[in-house]
Amino acid sequence: MTSATGGPPAEARVAIVGGGMAGCSLAHHCARLGCTDVVLLERDQLTSGATWHAAGLCTQFNWDPGITEILLRSTAVYRDLEDAAASGIGWRPVGSLRLAAEPAQLAEFEAVLERGRGQGLQGTLLDRDATQALWPWLEADGVVGSAHIPGEGYVDPARAAGALAAAAREAGVRVWTGVEAQGVTAAPDGRWRVATERGTVTAETVVMAAGAWSGGLASQLGLRLPVVGMEHQHGLTAAVAELGRSATELPVLRDPQASFYIRQDQAGFLCGPFEDDPVTVGESEIAHSGPFQLRRPDPERLARGLAAACRRIPVLDRAGIRSVVAGVDGYTPDGLPLVGELPQAPGVVWCTAFSLFGIAFGAGVGALLAERLVGGIEPPVLAALAADRFGRDLPADVELAARARRTYAAEYRPPAGRPVGRRAGTAVVRAGDDDTG
Ligand SMILES: Cc1cc2nc3c(=O)[nH]c(=O)nc-3n(C[C@H](O)[C@H](O)[C@H](O)COP(=O)(O)OP(=O)(O)OC[C@H]3O[C@@H](n4cnc5c(N)ncnc54)[C@H](O)[C@@H]3O)c2cc1C
Repeated sequence: MTSATGGPPAEARVAIVGGGMAGCSLAHHCARLGCTDVVLLERDQLTSGATWHAAGLCTQFNWDPGITEILLRSTAVYRDLEDAAASGIGWRPVGSLRLAAEPAQLAEFEAVLERGRGQGLQGTLLDRDATQALWPWLEADGVVGSAHIPGEGYVDPARAAGALAAAAREAGVRVWTGVEAQGVTAAPDGRWRVATERGTVTAETVVMAAGAWSGGLASQLGLRLPVVGMEHQHGLTAAVAELGRSATELPVLRDPQASFYIRQDQAGFLCGPFEDDPVTVGESEIAHSGPFQLRRPDPERLARGLAAACRRIPVLDRAGIRSVVAGVDGYTPDGLPLVGELPQAPGVVWCTAFSLFGIAFGAGVGALLAERLVGGIEPPVLAALAADRFGRDLPADVELAARARRTYAAEYRPPAGRPVGRRAGTAVVRAGDDDTG
């Protein structure tokens, strides 16, 4: 993907730092809107940060309708790419089930589905038996039903980001791999200079899409981001013979009570917990982590985090975790990305801190940010992700980390204070009805 000789161009309208899902999506969508005066700088290979090892899960479900809109935008991007890319991008719209342990929770799900319907979110409430019919491995004691969202699924993140970058390049965007942004400084004419070993790029807008490394780039500008490094692990089980023989793939399953997700991975399972005691990672450790680098796995911690999952899905225990993937991502106190400028540095746009949901958010955020930067449109839904939403006087690192850890542990719960559902028990599909798919 590297241009043949020389270095990046001396000037561009938009310079994007970082070739993960966020940077690649932004580059592609700028080009789609007619702006190809864009350069993307990636210090190593595309996707070599957090994107390559993500589980690829793409939810559409969210308590906030604005967030739902962003998530729907992402899945639409993946669906379109799957159709357009010659060999696809590994988009698997297998649907999802979100388990409810009590009628009030089903009512919350119903409220989300009802609100989302006008935006194109499709979903149905299933009773316990209908849920189990779609997920026969489930031990359904204590489950009253689930929300079934057929448009959700998972994608191969590296193929998707690669396809976005390839399309951008085809359209004229200059994609430079193996080129590190070594510092960003203000130019006298109001633009910004991005220094690299292979020359300086001067751009009207610099987009920091450098994932967990964005904090270091912020420090160089004398800025501090409301972000901590957060570790996350998922595990892959050994193959399960019956699963391998099944003609249909299972939907992704999320259990908010036991705080885990699981999807089929060929003949095995891929599963990960959002534990109560997540591990945060310091800035200096992140600064020293290189491309395609994973963190040292902690199988015991993963086993503790998945203990409730094994009770819910006993085959997990029997199959056993064969390998563990441990990585890190920038995480904010409210678990939402940072998208936009900080008042101290207008023209430097943050598109980062995807808080372990950068595949679900990244494609959509890239599309919406391109509308803002080159399309002359201000997508209202981006307000919820404003990079300056935590104010100028950020709490101390220890407080930021504590808030991020609380948010991580409550990943599948509705945010405190959010109004929940009504009309519990209505419109629930029972086993044998057509809608169970
Ligand atoms: C174990 C695990 C599982 C996950 N599963 C999911 C999932 O199922 N669904 C989901 O939505 N999310 C998931 N995530 C989160 C997801 O991986 C990230 O949110 C997403 O990849 C972030 O994309 P990004 O483009 O912001 O950053 P990255 O992919 O980290 O890309 C940043 C890029 O910037 C480059 N870079 C850094 N500094 C510089 C510089 N100075 N100059 C030039 N380039 C630079 C890096 O090399 C890197 O390629 C998971 C994360 C982990 C750890």
